[in-house]
Amino acid sequence: SGSLYLVATPIGNLEDMTYRAVRTLQECDIIAAEDTRNTRKLLSHFEITPSMLFSYHEHNKAASGPELIRYIIEGKNLALVSDAGLPAISDPGSDLVALAISHGIPVIPVPGANAALSALIASGLPTTTFTFAGFLPRERKDIRAVLSPLRSAQGTLLFYESPHRVLKTLEHLLETFGNRRIVLARELTKRYEEFLRGTIEECSAWLADYPPLGEYVIVVEGESKEEAAAAESAWWRELSIEEHVA
Ligand code: SAM
Repeated sequence: SGSLYLVATPIGNLEDMTYRAVRTLQECDIIAAEDTRNTRKLLSHFEITPSMLFSYHEHNKAASGPELIRYIIEGKNLALVSDAGLPAISDPGSDLVALAISHGIPVIPVPGANAALSALIASGLPTTTFTFAGFLPRERKDIRAVLSPLRSAQGTLLFYESPHRVLKTLEHLLETFGNRRIVLARELTKRYEEFLRGTIEECSAWLADYPPLGEYVIVVEGESKEEAAAAESAWWRELSIEEHVA
């Protein structure tokens, strides 16, 4: 059989595409993409002509997953990409990977950009232990069910959020964790990359004044007092905004 390649794509800055990602996409027989229109743009930027571009997303994955697996069993190499970053991280992919493994198909990661880890490493919060929680559910009771157990989780917490929900999400975080310190990482790798560092209340007040734009990673300090002490430094004593204009 062929193999399943999980290919990372940029999260904003096209220079984050790796040589290996370009070569893999060039060489694979099929590219499966979350949004084929987006992927076509990326492919044309890197002058990659796919022999076959297949749509694989949340709403068709039950049917298209087994179809893709059949192609691989027939000997085709398949590359899975999402709109940004790593496939299968808050994006479709994990079901296809499980299906591939159950058919004895080799699964090959082609690593690259990822929003959560990029935010974490630049946050200034401890990186030894962390919990990635992705997007919160929509319903209040489901949000509680996700957040409550995280109150006692060791280490830094990571969430994804869209601009129109970020303030609401900060309210939920405040309610569950109290006024912890957070870092809001926005527009990572892009022209107006920005890190907002402060308490949940400080950051919420700031966002209320300046309407949230772009996509966010919310990095929340963990519960452990020792770790918090280790992260203590001057920049935490007041709200700080670090802008990188490329
Ligand atoms: N698969 C992607 C990854 O590996 O990071 C995540 C895809 S998820 C559908 C999209 C979310 O990731 C956004 O809502 C935002 O929370 C985060 N994200 C993606 N790109 C980002 C960026 N350039 N800056 C900040 N957050 C970003």
